[in-house]
Amino acid sequence: MGKIVVKFGGSSLSEAKQFQKVRAIVEMNPDRCYVVPSAPGKRFSEDEKVTDLLYKTFRAAQAGEDFRVVFSKIRERYMEIKSQLNLSVEIEKYLDEIEAEVEKGVTEDYIASRGEYLNGLLLADYLGYAFLDPKDMIFFADNGTFDSERTNTVMSAKLAQVPRAVIPGFYGSIRNGEIHTFSRGGSDISGAIVARACGADIYENWTDVNGFLMTDPRIVPGAKPIRHITYRELRELSYMGAAVLHEDSVFPVHRAGIPTNIRNTNEPENDGTIIMHGVTDEPNPYVITGVAGKKGFSIVSVEKAMMNSEVGFGRKVLQAIEELGLSFEHLPTGIDTMCVVVSTAQLTPVKEKLVKRIMDLTSPDTLTIHDNMSIIATVGRGMVHNPGTAARLFTALSRAHVNVRMIDQGSSELSILVGVDDNDLEAAIRGIYEEFVRE
Ligand code: ASP
Repeated sequence: MGKIVVKFGGSSLSEAKQFQKVRAIVEMNPDRCYVVPSAPGKRFSEDEKVTDLLYKTFRAAQAGEDFRVVFSKIRERYMEIKSQLNLSVEIEKYLDEIEAEVEKGVTEDYIASRGEYLNGLLLADYLGYAFLDPKDMIFFADNGTFDSERTNTVMSAKLAQVPRAVIPGFYGSIRNGEIHTFSRGGSDISGAIVARACGADIYENWTDVNGFLMTDPRIVPGAKPIRHITYRELRELSYMGAAVLHEDSVFPVHRAGIPTNIRNTNEPENDGTIIMHGVTDEPNPYVITGVAGKKGFSIVSVEKAMMNSEVGFGRKVLQAIEELGLSFEHLPTGIDTMCVVVSTAQLTPVKEKLVKRIMDLTSPDTLTIHDNMSIIATVGRGMVHNPGTAARLFTALSRAHVNVRMIDQGSSELSILVGVDDNDLEAAIRGIYEEFVRE
């Protein structure tokens, strides 16, 4: 028998009828042995996520206000699911306990984590699976970083004894068993950790979309779905803002060589997107896998004749960047120029100081800063095998009347990055997509 870890997002478990879909999915394949739930999400667009209500409860309690006003909304959500599904778990007892803890004063992480905890109790009862509390299996070091090795050792041993279980997402414990959460959206990470610990064949991440699309459908309506993508390609694309998954959820499974399958709870017949560990023989119908862009960058260009032979030039430019507390996104260089791409929001408050510092350190011939730039990543494992890809890309951009201000192929041969004016972002993405996809 194989092992599949299934993680369900908040919209997949927002109410009783979603629980029914989830159970049907779990029962459809007996290999689906470990289930990682999020807290109940929105049932309709103006609805509130339980996790948001829990943070509100915490803030109300801290401000000395009557937190029960918000907490009663949370209570109702769970009670309704329990009664509609005829469950026997004593969820009201757990809700009372949590309310009493809030009264006494608890940490923000503790209260935030209860959304997953309570949903896990309901789901375990509904599926007839054991309930395993991640506080005993997911550990954070004292400084708050995730302790992956200790977690993996303890969790693997536990899971070996419990063949089927529900394990709430989003949290673990720190120090003496105090609850600690990942950042928002962190149940994706919990699912990946469980998949690694049990040596799953596949990690299924069930959400409310049919996987990834080749580009943003707000820019290209009807953008085609991506059937297969590698973890490295995803990293290049998600970095540019195409995230469906929590970024940190990629590492545990990627390292263990376990593929992730993004699926849609509301459309289980759709195969979704498979994120593969390495390049396999899976055919890629297009030269590119996807194209994504992001606004809000500035390009700092430093130009100096014979820069290439001046020892320490690059270091001095980066020293100025570092001294002002900036991190850089890209670093394309030419024979006499060096460009540093930084986020405009980070740069603006220290712009003048940075200019002065670079001038003092490097005495360049010119120093210019272009604001309002977008970076577009065109990503594809197939690009390296297809001569002429760059030529096609730039022809497409010129056809779309887009002025390219920066080019960076990077060292991966997996992506080509171009910098364009913010106003040209949409036209550029449309142009590239049309060229490679609508042949
Ligand atoms: N419930 C948490 C959040 O809303 C974690 C998650 O859903 O992944 O961020």
